[in-house]
This record gives sequence, structure tokens and C-alpha cells, in this order.
Amino acid sequence: MVDVELTDDDARFRRDVADWLADHVVGEYAELKGRGGPGDEDVGFDVRVAWEHELGKAGFIGLGWPVDEGGRGASLDQQIIWAEEYARAQAPARVNHMGENLLAPTLIAYGTPEQRERFLPGILRGDERWCQGYSEPNAGSDLANVATRAQREGDEWVVNGQKVWTSLAHVSHWCFVVARTDPESVRHNGLSFLLVPMEQPGVEVRPIVQPTGGGEFNEVFFDDARTEASLVVGEVDDGWRIAMGLLGFERGVSTLAQQVGFERELDHVVNLARARGRGDDPGLRARLVDAWIGLRLMKWNAMRSMAAKGVPGPEASVSKLFWGTWHRDLGNLMIDVLGADGLIGESLPYELTLEQKLFLFSRSDTIYGGSNEIQRNVLGERVLGLPRDPR
Ligand SMILES: Cc1cc2nc3c(=O)[nH]c(=O)nc-3n(C[C@H](O)[C@H](O)[C@H](O)COP(=O)(O)OP(=O)(O)OC[C@H]3O[C@@H](n4cnc5c(N)ncnc54)[C@H](O)[C@@H]3O)c2cc1C
Repeated sequence: MVDVELTDDDARFRRDVADWLADHVVGEYAELKGRGGPGDEDVGFDVRVAWEHELGKAGFIGLGWPVDEGGRGASLDQQIIWAEEYARAQAPARVNHMGENLLAPTLIAYGTPEQRERFLPGILRGDERWCQGYSEPNAGSDLANVATRAQREGDEWVVNGQKVWTSLAHVSHWCFVVARTDPESVRHNGLSFLLVPMEQPGVEVRPIVQPTGGGEFNEVFFDDARTEASLVVGEVDDGWRIAMGLLGFERGVSTLAQQVGFERELDHVVNLARARGRGDDPGLRARLVDAWIGLRLMKWNAMRSMAAKGVPGPEASVSKLFWGTWHRDLGNLMIDVLGADGLIGESLPYELTLEQKLFLFSRSDTIYGGSNEIQRNVLGERVLGLPRDPR
């Protein structure tokens, strides 16, 4: 756990949230302890939605948002405490990361008062879920290549195009979509950041089955989909700025919550190694120690990154590169500790064990949120001053 100097208030806050979690992670919620994370999103979804409502009622959604936006205005330390206690209680995995941690801070920073009034309460109650419509078949690493178009017709935007890899689109009510609103524009110019309702005839969601057997992400087709003219965040044709601003919120406190989850996974690998009598294998021991050291480095780097102000800079790239690679390696280690058994599916086709799911899903960690190669390009150009990547 992160070693921070706690004030009396913080210590009280830690006791209060730990008590609340102990009282509430019971019954059907306790059955989902440690479940619903990456690669495991389909598990107990309805129960996790009900859990989200419990969190909303108790004011545990939007903890760090300003009080006048309906949040608690909790300090960074208190948000970290909450993330730690949440992970320690193994409470079910959350279902609306995109709404609470990405879209909401974006609306608070760039949205109109009407947009905030309309959308923040639904997120705070745990009622409205959001997905992120950035990537397209020809616009992933090269996001400025977005081809989805939106055209103004009367009081509405009419949206046409295709998004892909859209996490949780099949269970989302709204999507924030980067679309080209100036048909003559190229690259970063002429894009807008639109809020589009998912439940309408013009939106088709096709799940993509992943090697884990689950379907966490989707293709999303917009075929004359409609949204209100007022649902552009920021200025029309200035969506790139908003889209990049949103990505800056990705390095928030949720990174620390993620790391507490990593810590639990690492403990699990260590326990597996012991249980299987592999605790004295020197090669495995060295890798376990490396993983332990890596986790410590990651935590301190995340704290440093959160303390930094301004637009996401190189420290965000260092952090993404480090945790993505670390977690992929942990997936490898998990399977190596299991040995040949790790390769056997108990009841194929699918259900895989949690260890197998971790191994498979962690392959994606070096891709989403900016691939390792892209992070290295950023570091090469902005930190080392190497020549720019050919474009
Ligand atoms: C689990 C998961 C969930 C996701 N969820 C979402 C979501 O909710 N919403 C969303 O919009 N997107 C989502 N994505 C998409 C993700 O953002 C993209 O996969 C990522 O940006 C890479 O884009 P791409 O898949 O098109 O690969 P490409 O950009 O086509 O890259 C292919 C390969 O080429 C390399 N490459 C590309 N350009 C360069 C370069 N200039 N220099 C060196 N190497 C390069 C890449 O590193 C990669 O190895 C998700 C992806 C995953 C895996």
C-alpha cells in the first residue's frame, strides 16, 4: 500500500470507508469478490449494476468531483484511500469507468452548464453508462485519421461511420464520439466531440468475441444516428482538444486502484508458486522478485504522475509503457507457474480459469490506451529529442 502521511481526517475516512465496505460487500456482492475485472467483465453484470446503485446512494461515485457538481470534493489522499480500501475489500469491479473517470471530468472541464446538469447526475446515481467512440478500423494509433462524419440537419447532428474496439458499448446508454464535422478537413482539424445516445435505430452494436470467451468490446456502426445539436462538447470542429483533454484524465487515481488489483494478482501468483511446490525454482523466484520490485516502482511513478500538472506529458507515457509491459509479463508468469496445467481448458469451449483469462487479456495491455510503440515514439521525440516519427 502507498505510504502516505495521514491526517486525523484521513485516518477517520479510512476507517469509515473500510466499515462501510465490510457492511455492504455481503450476500450477492460478496459472491462477486474480486470478479468482473479485465477479461472477466461479463461476470455478474446485473449484480454489479445494482452494486453501482449502492455506491451512488452512499455518495461513493464521483468522490473527487467538486461538491457543486455533486461530488464529494475528496482530496487526492482520500481518493487513494478509497481505491485501496475498495481493492482490499475485493468489492466487485466497477461498470462505468468511462462515465465516471473520463467523461465526467471532461464535462466538468469543458462542458456547458446544461450538459453537466443533464449528464452528471445519471453517472453519480450509477444509472447511465458511457463508452468511448474513438478508434476506427483506420484510426487507432493514428486517431487523427477519424473518418466517422457528423452533419448538421436542423436541430440535430446526423452521424455516419464505424467505430471499433468500443469497450462495453453493448451495455452503455451513451457514447462520446470523435467525428469529422468539417467534411473538407484533414487530420486533427475539423473534428468534434459529440455525445450520442446508443439506444436508437441508427446505432448497431456488434460484439467481438475475445480469446477469453467474453465479449468486452464491440464494433459500433452509426447509420444516420442522431443526436441533439447542443450535444457537442467544446466548440464545433475543435474536438481534438477535448478528445486529448479527456485522455489526460486516464492517469488519475484509477491507476492506483488498478495497482492494488495488480498487487492482489501478484500475491496470487506467489501463493500458486508455493502451493505447487515451485517456491525454490530460482528462475521463477527471480521473476517474482522482479515483479514485486516493478510494482513498487510503478506506484511511486503513478504518484509522481498524478502530482504533475498540465497536459499529459512524457510521465504519462512512461507510466503506460511500464504498467502495460509489467502486467503482460505477470500474465506470462502466471501461466509459467501453472506449467502444463495452465494450457488446459477445463470445459472448452470456454469457461477459462481466472489465471488463463489474465494471461490472455493481459496481452491487450500493451495495445489499448496507446501501444508500447506509440509510447516509445512519444518518449523518443519529447524526452530524448530524437527526430520525429515519419508521418
Ligand atoms: C482491450 C481493448 C479495449 C479497447 N477499448 C477501446 C475503447 O473503449 N474505445 C476506443 O475508442 N478504442 C478502444 N481500444 C482500441 C485501442 O485504443 C487501439 O487498439 C489502439 O489505439 C491501437 O490501435 P489499432 O488497434 O488500430 O492498432 P494500429 O494503430 O493499427 O497499430 C498496429 C501496430 O502498429 C504499431 N504502430 C502503429 N503506428 C506506429 C508508429 N507510428 N510507430 C511505430 N509503431 C506503430 C502499433 O504499436 C501496433 O503494434 C481498445 C483496445 C483494446 C485492446
